Amino acid sequence: MTATRSLAEKLARPELINLTPYQSARRIGGQGEIWINANESPFNNSDIEQLNRYPECQPPALIDAYSRYAGVSSDSIVTSRGADEAIELLIRTFCIAGKDSIACFGPTYGMYAISAQTCNVAVNALALTDDYQLPTDLVQQVADAKLVFICNPNNPTGTIIDLDSIETVVNQLPNALVVIDEAYIEFCPEYSAAQLVEQYDNVVVLRTLSKAFALAGARCGFMLANPDIVNLVMRVIAPYPVPKPVADLATAALSEQGIALMRQQVATLIEQGKLLSQALSNAGAQVLPANGNFVLAKFDDIAAVKQQLIDAGIVARSYGDARLADWIRFSFANDKQTQTLINVFQ
Ligand code: PMP
Repeated sequence: MTATRSLAEKLARPELINLTPYQSARRIGGQGEIWINANESPFNNSDIEQLNRYPECQPPALIDAYSRYAGVSSDSIVTSRGADEAIELLIRTFCIAGKDSIACFGPTYGMYAISAQTCNVAVNALALTDDYQLPTDLVQQVADAKLVFICNPNNPTGTIIDLDSIETVVNQLPNALVVIDEAYIEFCPEYSAAQLVEQYDNVVVLRTLSKAFALAGARCGFMLANPDIVNLVMRVIAPYPVPKPVADLATAALSEQGIALMRQQVATLIEQGKLLSQALSNAGAQVLPANGNFVLAKFDDIAAVKQQLIDAGIVARSYGDARLADWIRFSFANDKQTQTLINVFQ
């Protein structure tokens, strides 16, 4: 009798099902005092403990800290080099090159499409509605995409899709993985879909420490998904994706104190963002509701605004995408920087 296959196994690249993951020395482990099984150096030349040793593939302290923070069990979490690596891991785990496709709703974060293209996976680039929601005929539009990426809050629009709409889509697409990219969720935590991970076998949530946790330089992200998905992704992930110093920094950022600091900084940034949005609006720009740490604004005379920003030494984000030709995205900044920016528009 064959055991019933999980959804993750049905969707995964078939060659992964029987693949034995690379047996790193760290994974095999052992007992004893003298560790000479990984061709490491016996000399630690750093103040960082054990830097001469390979790190754990999934550092337990980091996974446990994220589990506590996100309210998701440890066996439903993968940590990676930023959410960007998690996007690529999903594509490499589930999409057959030259055959499968992903879907995403634009304008949105560019790496879903780029990552897919670098793996020779087709991209079904769909559009959000005029009010930045998911299309009502999403199921037909998505067709047979294996992975459906929903960025929430969406980068670069800053707009949000409510949890009921997300859950509807999850129910409508039982044979695809719905990947909700929550890179900016700390700025509107009430919209998180993290709890759906334990209820549905087709939900994946992506997170990062790059935004609210102020650790973009550390490269640390997380994938939340049911253990069947985690198990398959762990066959594709590099043996040592998270450097030891990064794991230590990230674990500290996820301590009670670290989370309190993050929340305080998020509150400050949201306040600065409100001042900025108001100033942009007063200056005649069309300003979208900002649910992340940035605001997207449309200008009548975009060339003049770009020049003003250059003259003031302010580097904001403009886009090649024709849909965003008149728009600029401004990341929220500190008090002084925000005032400088507001002065440009007064
Ligand atoms: N998702 C979104 C929506 C993002 O905006 C970004 C970063 N710009 C990422 C993922 C990647 O984040 P990380 O730094 O964790 O790779």
